[in-house]
Amino acid sequence: MSPTDQPPGPAQSGPPSSAARVLTVSRLRKSFGTHQVLQSIDLAVDQGQVLALIGPSGSGKTTVLRCLNGLEIPDAGTVAFGGGPAVDFGPPVPRRQLTALRDRSAMVFQHYNLFPHMSVLQNVIEGPVQVQKRPRAEAVREAEELLARVGLADKRDHYPHQLSGGQQQRVGIVRALALRPALLLFDEPTSALDPELVGEVLTVIKELAEEGWTMLMVTHELAFAREVASEVVFMDGGVVVERGHPDVVLRDPREERTRRFVARLL
Ligand code: ADP
Repeated sequence: MSPTDQPPGPAQSGPPSSAARVLTVSRLRKSFGTHQVLQSIDLAVDQGQVLALIGPSGSGKTTVLRCLNGLEIPDAGTVAFGGGPAVDFGPPVPRRQLTALRDRSAMVFQHYNLFPHMSVLQNVIEGPVQVQKRPRAEAVREAEELLARVGLADKRDHYPHQLSGGQQQRVGIVRALALRPALLLFDEPTSALDPELVGEVLTVIKELAEEGWTMLMVTHELAFAREVASEVVFMDGGVVVERGHPDVVLRDPREERTRRFVARLL
């Protein structure tokens, strides 16, 4: 399945000036207790863009993704998908709008987060059938197609513990695709894998990028980011320090903080 197979949603509608804009985040703030983890984050992602979110551990990257997917509730700021209405955070929590927000993106987790008691197929169709109320037969057909595409057709009836980490993560990716999201969120998708299994997962992600999927990816794989990302965003201490073309941010950054970070990793 390619993104063009997706039903028209807010990402494709809206005024012409914002037709290509998939996500707009403004002044997003989040604290855990007294620790302000996100200071005031602005982000924009256009259709077909691959944004790589990089930065030191603890800088707030995962929290950004979790806020977009409704797994954390921001304290303030707005999040808008496509031409749809912006969800305005800050008390009171906009519960109903939060549900709509959750539908627009799908997350691929660092530790796969597959349901251990469900088969591969059940893991993939759970969201489409239980949450999106799509017909089971259609969800199964689509799941089988997606599993075949990532080389896992024969693992349909296996359970997660019977798979390698790389295979589990490919199931994690298929599970996200099956939700037909406007935006794919990847949270360090290869960092839990043994080195020899990283390549098979990166290959799938690269193919999705080439097909035009819109993605926001937290990653420490800077070489991969340089190859695949259309834009790199460097975060530190809960703020976006610098963003731009991978060749600039990763090779010749403007900011000293970015320079020090990439020098350590590249
Ligand atoms: P990164 O992804 O850049 O490593 P995170 O977004 O995971 O950073 O975390 C940013 C900071 O927020 C860290 O100091 C982390 O300990 C803290 N944090 C994240 N989630 C929680 C939580 N649920 N409760 C308390 N602190 C949290």
